[in-house]
Amino acid sequence: MDSQQFREFGREAIDFLANYYDTIRDRDVLPSVQPGDIIKKLPKDAPEQPEPWQQIFQDYKDVVIPGITNWHSPQFHAYYPTGTSFASIIGGLLSDGIGIMGFTWIASPVCTELEVVSMDWLAKLLGLPEEFLNSHSGPGGGVLQGSASEAILVGLLAAKDKMIRRLKKQDPDLDEDLAKIKFVAYTSDHCNSAVEKAGVLGSMKMRLLESDINGRLRGKTLKKAMEEDKALGLIPCYVVCNLGTTGLCSFDAMDEIGPICRENNVWLHVDAAYAGSALICQEYRHLLNGIEYADSFDVNAHKWFLVNFDCSAMWVRDSYDLINAFDVQRVYLEDVDSEIKIPDYRHWQMPLGRRFRALKLWFVMKSYGAEGIRSYIRRHISLAQYFAKLMKADNRFIIEPEPSMGLVCFRLVQGDLLTKKLLENITKKKKLFMVRGSFRNQYIIRIVICSQLTNIEDVELSWNKIKNEANTLLENDAVHIKSQTITTIHGMENICVTEKSK
Ligand code: PLP
Repeated sequence: MDSQQFREFGREAIDFLANYYDTIRDRDVLPSVQPGDIIKKLPKDAPEQPEPWQQIFQDYKDVVIPGITNWHSPQFHAYYPTGTSFASIIGGLLSDGIGIMGFTWIASPVCTELEVVSMDWLAKLLGLPEEFLNSHSGPGGGVLQGSASEAILVGLLAAKDKMIRRLKKQDPDLDEDLAKIKFVAYTSDHCNSAVEKAGVLGSMKMRLLESDINGRLRGKTLKKAMEEDKALGLIPCYVVCNLGTTGLCSFDAMDEIGPICRENNVWLHVDAAYAGSALICQEYRHLLNGIEYADSFDVNAHKWFLVNFDCSAMWVRDSYDLINAFDVQRVYLEDVDSEIKIPDYRHWQMPLGRRFRALKLWFVMKSYGAEGIRSYIRRHISLAQYFAKLMKADNRFIIEPEPSMGLVCFRLVQGDLLTKKLLENITKKKKLFMVRGSFRNQYIIRIVICSQLTNIEDVELSWNKIKNEANTLLENDAVHIKSQTITTIHGMENICVTEKSK
């Protein structure tokens, strides 16, 4: 493909995408494909000869697009949002367009420096402590990771290294391997799978502690668990505090958890992957109570901050904790000396290679302005509350727990079986996509306001679809129960007749 073809293909591609978003409401949320259908459509081998861009684009339209789940449809209500915006898409395109790497400053100075500045902008917008700023005189700072999962694992590995160094100071003859197997990490039983997985990947026992009836991990539970472990000769090392759990969007009691971590020299990581974006609104800042105890904090800008995947913003109180843990030198990676504090980001992450993620984040902050992002977050929350209001007027549904951020959890009063059936019936029609959750051992359906396009009419449409499906299900169920009763009565009559005729 030469530059002229690149121009033509690029223009058509942007046109296609603009159209895609303009008409997204006409599409089903879920694709009409069965497992294996797409594999069958594709040739078994790569082409020997180059194909014209028009052919490639046609394949995109014929094979790729029919195989996608439309995450940005206003009727997509599953999981949590994945961010997108035109500003971010262009940021991604222009970042890919220059095709750079940013593992050291010299590898691409702007990749590091724009990240330094963008992370400070974001930290200030979210109201994070100033010790987390790159521009602060202390050792803290912010870095863009690929995902919240990576941030949790980076935190865990750094905590492990820091604990070893601390123990070695006390006992220079310490057997590191023996000590490491005694390390324990803690989190709530409502944590994202990524937290548990970090324990697996980082070879640290991860205890999922019982949260309270509202899905919050409390200080006393953590304290008791640490005491039990210390009595067994184990060493508490890492805690993940969840601000906005995936299932319920519940918030662990960071103000209770923090002091316990501090007393025990345990690293406190805060996973605010989804809900952290709401901190841009002053009215949610109270959720940061206890942040003064945190060693690291992470929010996925690629979830609720209008930035396309991947862009996970992580801050640490002391970047030397990362550098000490991950610094591996090679002569070819030598960087320039600098008078000012410039991070060598390759030591702050797992891979060596670094994408220029800051560009799309920077574009979004500039294109929306803080006020634009605040009003988008507030709109999502008020749309979720509007949905809850519509549902609360229908006494066949129970909303529990209370809606939190853009998430509403509900179930049918009839209980698990029918609630499950309701979700199955809705999913089969492909017009609406939600996933299940669990609250106090009951089956619930989670509905999240995800698309940046969602408006009041969209919420009403989703509500009507749920209501209509419930009408059909409950009518059928009533008929089913009635016919079961009749069968039973007939059965009894038969028995009576038989008994009599005997
Ligand atoms: N933590 C929470 C609370 C989440 O909701 C998610 C994903 O939904 C994650 C962590 C994992 O995020 P990532 O896919 O960026 O690793």
